[in-house]
Amino acid sequence: MLDVEKIRQDFPMLNGTTMHGKPLIYFDNGATTLKPQCVIDAVCDYLTNYSGNAHRGDYDLSHDVDTRFEHTRDLVAKLINCDRKEVVYTYGSTDSLNLVAFGYGALHLQKDDEVLLTVAEHASNTLPWFEVCQQTGSVINYIDLDNEGRLTIENVKKAITDKTKIISIAQVTNVLGYDGPIKEICKLAHDRGIIVCVDGAQSVPHQSVDVKDLDVDFLAFSGHKMCGPTGVGILYGKYDLLQETSPTRLGGGSNSRYNSCGSVKLKNAPTKFEAGTPNIEGVIGLGAAIEYLMQIGMDNIHEQELKLRAYAIKKMQELDNLEIYNPNGQGAIAFNIKGVFSQDAASLFNTYGIAVRAGQHCAKILDEFLNVSQTLRVSFYFYNTFDEIDQFIEVCKKGDDFLYAFFG
Ligand code: PMP
Repeated sequence: MLDVEKIRQDFPMLNGTTMHGKPLIYFDNGATTLKPQCVIDAVCDYLTNYSGNAHRGDYDLSHDVDTRFEHTRDLVAKLINCDRKEVVYTYGSTDSLNLVAFGYGALHLQKDDEVLLTVAEHASNTLPWFEVCQQTGSVINYIDLDNEGRLTIENVKKAITDKTKIISIAQVTNVLGYDGPIKEICKLAHDRGIIVCVDGAQSVPHQSVDVKDLDVDFLAFSGHKMCGPTGVGILYGKYDLLQETSPTRLGGGSNSRYNSCGSVKLKNAPTKFEAGTPNIEGVIGLGAAIEYLMQIGMDNIHEQELKLRAYAIKKMQELDNLEIYNPNGQGAIAFNIKGVFSQDAASLFNTYGIAVRAGQHCAKILDEFLNVSQTLRVSFYFYNTFDEIDQFIEVCKKGDDFLYAFFG
């Protein structure tokens, strides 16, 4: 059982007030999470006390930076159970997924090869593949979701053909929040020589993810969705696959030599992908975030969030003015207040200091499945409370009475 009251003390934004003079109830953790003081301190410490470049200098300061910058790689490796050389620093999930699509996909896909996605994917796991397929003459196919919006192994089996080369799917989707059967999918795919790229943006922050146990080929995630800074993310790749992946950015730091004739010798993975000065404070802040999360325990975090979700669903189902699209998911809750445009509803929540998301949530083809163009989304993190959910429910009850709330 987490001591949530104690945990909340770690987050300055949970101890202030919003622009509306009310305490912040932050239910948009799928978009980004709040930052604990230890992360803020780690970033400030770097900026204040040792802000040299990484892997560039031969002086003490530079050594300090390198040590802490590389320490994050060890922490990531521990978090997801891989080797440190399989951890690539990127600028976020989007950047990681683009690297897989353009660095691996563009090199290995041929005309008429097939890439499998679902309509529940985030734009960052869709648009890079659209582009790479167009460039290589390969084809996107979609794995059907079941009638609740889940990804099932049966439907993956049905979608695979002898032309399928890559499956790229979210472990937990950002609107429907279902946890896909990744381990089974990897087994099925690998038996047929298919590569599996997993978008872990909504899973790694919330649960234990063991890449060896799942046997995923690539895993992408973002620092800012797990208490870390923005502008930093991770691409995990099996080492052999990383060696077969081309960097999509070239420049300083990634090569061991080159000459005026254009002959270039790149360093091995992961260094070959990390050209240019990286987001050093981001990487160091991410390290502090991972230490913080591991101290709380990923299983404890997951358990707490499932309890919050179950509580919210139960309360929401007691109201007859809500349409809930994924009562049985495990991540975000997608819903609408009947008859109310989602953005109007989000504004109503905002007046009570409650941050919820409205719209399409960067999953713009999901409406083809949901048959609704916009939804509200609440997404919890371990620092949320049952009391916050009660306050949220009170605002849900106001429902289409929102005009009264604004002007009444
Ligand atoms: N995939 C999923 C499932 C996401 O939820 C997000 C962020 N909303 C992304 C990818 C992209 O993450 P980022 O914006 O940090 O690159």
